[in-house]
Amino acid sequence: MSKTLFQKIIDREIPADIVYEDDDCLAFRDVAPQAPTHVLVIPKKPIASLDELADNDATLLGHLWLVIRNLANELQLADGYRVVVNCGSDGGQTVDHLHFHLLGGRVLSWPPG
Ligand code: AMP
Repeated sequence: MSKTLFQKIIDREIPADIVYEDDDCLAFRDVAPQAPTHVLVIPKKPIASLDELADNDATLLGHLWLVIRNLANELQLADGYRVVVNCGSDGGQTVDHLHFHLLGGRVLSWPPG
């Protein structure tokens, strides 16, 4: 199976504006930002989507949420922010590697399209 775009970013085969990395995850700025701050947080483990999470991914998932909380703090999103996971074609997922969109820096409307 060919590598996803995000796997290539993890493997440093294509460049990205990385804002955080540890043993289990990577965070980098979205190439087409939808808000003044738009960061993608991804596990290094190749999980295709939210739907593909295994029961034993719970610790990893908890870690990702704490990384997101810390990043929101570091990126000065004190007024609030939104975390989005698109899942599957109806959900608007375009890259088959689980990713969390961290969006902030402006008032975000609701409901989404
Ligand atoms: P989704 O539509 O939820 O699958 O989100 C995929 C996201 O990846 C989109 O917001 C794209 O703008 C973003 N994206 C695509 N290519 C790159 C890239 N090379 N570097 C950073 N973000 C990217």
